[in-house]
Amino acid sequence: MAPLRIQYGGTFDPVHDGHLAVARSARDRLHADVWLMPAADPPHKGPTEASASERLAMLQLAVAGQKHLHVDDRELHRAGPSWTIDTLVDLRREIGDAAPLAILIGADSFLGLPTWRSWQSLTDFAHIVIAERPGSRIDQHALPEPLHSFAAPRWCTSAMALHDAPAGRLLRLKLPLRPESSTELRARIAAGQPWRAWTPPAVADYIERHRLYGAGPRPDAGTR
Ligand code: ATP
Repeated sequence: MAPLRIQYGGTFDPVHDGHLAVARSARDRLHADVWLMPAADPPHKGPTEASASERLAMLQLAVAGQKHLHVDDRELHRAGPSWTIDTLVDLRREIGDAAPLAILIGADSFLGLPTWRSWQSLTDFAHIVIAERPGSRIDQHALPEPLHSFAAPRWCTSAMALHDAPAGRLLRLKLPLRPESSTELRARIAAGQPWRAWTPPAVADYIERHRLYGAGPRPDAGTR
């Protein structure tokens, strides 16, 4: 099978275990290299709380030592909104027309796809892999228009189908639902509720060290 490259974009403000479970599942089930790609200026969200360099540092800590998981910081070097279509054009220039390429998005992002710039052209450049997410049920036969008409001829069910073509197919990545969200994680940190179990220890340490999202020092800090 040709190597498959998967781009997993997001704000990662901060990265959490839900992101990592999705990335690992895509890597293992689709035999792919997965590139986590922080957005500089996410077009569909407000400003991020942590800076671009902090979000990047947390991602690097999260994937350290994890085979076939990488960080791609290309969107941080581009001015203006981080449109995915621009990223895919850039990637195609880099990897050529024949290599299989996919973007990985959560079900909530998929349902919002028609708001993305040039969304119907995304599949000219890449496949789309959709991870199930609590609260965003995907029923392939009952998607709202115009998503339904766009998606219907493109669904596939096997990793092979993604390796066999450079772009153009949609695949649902089924994995146990993950409850984590960055919004909820930030809220827990700010409220002083337990939160460390939602992100890798190295990322949690970074958040505390840099006092991100209103994090205070650990209750046991200084006692060891
Ligand atoms: P926020 O809560 O601030 O919206 P988020 O947790 O959705 O943040 P993002 O960085 O915006 O994090 O997400 C990047 C991508 O990961 C998006 O496509 C999103 O749908 C997906 N994603 C995030 N968390 C999960 C999860 N728990 N399960 C499945 N997909 C997820």
